[in-house]
Order: sequence, then structure tokens, then C-alpha cells
Amino acid sequence: MERRKFIKQGVMLGVAGIVASKTGSLLAHPNTTNNPTADHNGEYTLPPLPYGYDALEPYIDKETMEIHHTKHHAAYVSNLNKGLAATTGKAELEAINKLGLESILANISKYPMPVRNNAGGHYNHSLFWTLMKPVNKDSSASNAPSGNIAEAINTAFGNFEDFKKKFTEAATTRFGSGWAWLYVNAERKLAIGSTPNQDNPLMDMADIKGTPVLALDVWEHAYYLHYQNKRADYINNWWHTVNWEKANALFIAHK
Ligand code: MN
Repeated sequence: MERRKFIKQGVMLGVAGIVASKTGSLLAHPNTTNNPTADHNGEYTLPPLPYGYDALEPYIDKETMEIHHTKHHAAYVSNLNKGLAATTGKAELEAINKLGLESILANISKYPMPVRNNAGGHYNHSLFWTLMKPVNKDSSASNAPSGNIAEAINTAFGNFEDFKKKFTEAATTRFGSGWAWLYVNAERKLAIGSTPNQDNPLMDMADIKGTPVLALDVWEHAYYLHYQNKRADYINNWWHTVNWEKANALFIAHK
């Protein structure tokens, strides 16, 4: 009982802070953020993929995408709903859910581990899908960023190739399961890092903190069917699928 009260008070305090600080910025740009909200039943739902399961071939195969989306991501959503229902009262949950998953991530240390894992899982995958785009099989043009994010990458990392090397290193060296990130840090600068499991830079207990603008899933479930143990090959090919327009929009909304 005491634990539940503690969680409730902590969460409500956090919600008040987010309402005060973010109504002017984050919530005003719904199309350029990735902040899943619950449906009218107060539950999170699996978002559809913004393209077909085979759209990322030959770099990410159809079967991997289908299992990743309909089994792995779906399980995070379902277990997030179960986890939240078990820890938070209905009225409180409604208020929190209206603010979206980012409000939960910002206070995630107050929740039990299953909520942390599944809230991260839902958030990270929802973002990951939108940061990839159908592969143009007729074009041999290289897939590189343009606009504000391209300039900021050059400023922060020297040039695009050096940025790719550094990001690839973060993704390759993440031991076990986790994610690599390009994110806007507290100084409003681009930074590269990685997190274990389903953690992300929005979580209050994370080692790296900021707003993600690019995400890469390096769990084995993201590549094992096609690449087996060759994570480096998966990462090298993933660059062909990156949706730089979306990354740029996220960057502009948060820089
Ligand atoms: Mn995954």
C-alpha cells in the first residue's frame, strides 16, 4: 500500500512538472514528436507500420519485420498496459496517459521494472519504425541527411562519415541487448550513446539524457533471422533505410 502511494504521489508530481514545462514546446508539435498516448479505453495500442513488412528489403527482411512488429512490439504494448494497471489507479492513469508515454519515461524510476522495460519497449519501437523508410530500389543515390540535422552533424562530429563511424561503434559495442541513439542533449547539442535493454535517453535514470532523433535497435530479435550473429553487417545495411527527413523533423522540434 505504501509503495503504491509513493508511486502515485511521485508520478503526479512528475505530471504537474511536465504539464508546466512542456505545453509550450513538446505538446505543441504533435507531428514532430514521438509521444504515444493511450486510446479512449486508457490503453496503449500497437501502431501500424508506416510501410509494408517487405519495404526495407533487401536490408531488413520481411519475416524479421513482421515478427518484430506483430510479436515483439505487440508484447511490449500488452505488457505495458498490464504493468500500468497493476501499479497505478484508474483516475491517475487517465491523467498520465493523456500526457503520453514521455511523461511516464520522465518518471520511470518510480515504477517497477516491468513498466520500465515495456514502456521503453513501446516508445523505442514506435520511434524506430518511423525512423526508417521504404528502400528505393531504382536509386543508387546514397542515403544521407540534409537540412538542419546535416549541418548539426557536421558541427558535432566533423562530417557525415565520422558521425556514421561513431554511431556504428556505439551500436556495435553495446554489450547484449540495447539501443544506439543520436539525441539532443541538455546543452541542445547532438550526442551519440547507447542504452541497455529497452532503456532510452528520456528515462530519468538513464546514463545518457536527452531527446532521441535517431534510434537503432540492436537486440538480436532485430536481425538474427537474416544476419545471425553478424550485428555489424546489420548495422551497415541499416544506414540505407534511415528516414533522415523524420530525424531532421525531430531535431528541429527539439534543438
Ligand atoms: Mn526490437
